[in-house]
Amino acid sequence: MAIERTLSIIKPDATRRNITGLITARLEAAGLRSIAQRRFFMTRQQAEKFYAVHAERAFFDDLCDFMASGPVLVQVLEGENAIARNREVMGATNPANADEGTIRKEFGESIEANSAHGSDSPENAAIEIAFFFSELDIVG
Ligand code: ADP
Ligand code: MG
Repeated sequence: MAIERTLSIIKPDATRRNITGLITARLEAAGLRSIAQRRFFMTRQQAEKFYAVHAERAFFDDLCDFMASGPVLVQVLEGENAIARNREVMGATNPANADEGTIRKEFGESIEANSAHGSDSPENAAIEIAFFFSELDIVG
């Protein structure tokens, strides 16, 4: 297995409930190391660009409004198989379908407000990390 990097976003529903530490603890317990962090308000334009792949979906406008509705905590995670590992610990997109013990099952409020994002492939991880961080921000 390879050491990988992936992009994690703790979404506005979770920053609002002050559970960024709880969620990050789950990521750390899964062997993922947070090697860069930024907490900020994502603009709607940034959300539209970040989720451009979903632009044609019915939920796109609501999703972009939601992502710009409060602060996010964006992190680069590093570890063995980090991309798949992060998605395993997050659980299924819809918290109602997520396995017990996953972040989305435990903390997600709805299919939209599901507390966490994780890159879905090495290609997208590289694109998403570069969208928010410069190499100088990442301290492994
Ligand atoms: P994932 O975040 O698990 O990779 P997707 O890439 O399919 O899931 O969707 C991106 C985000 O869009 C989801 O995390 C969720 O916040 C939102 N979303 C996905 N599907 C829906 C839906 N049917 N209704 C509302 N929001 C959705
Ligand atoms: Mg996705």
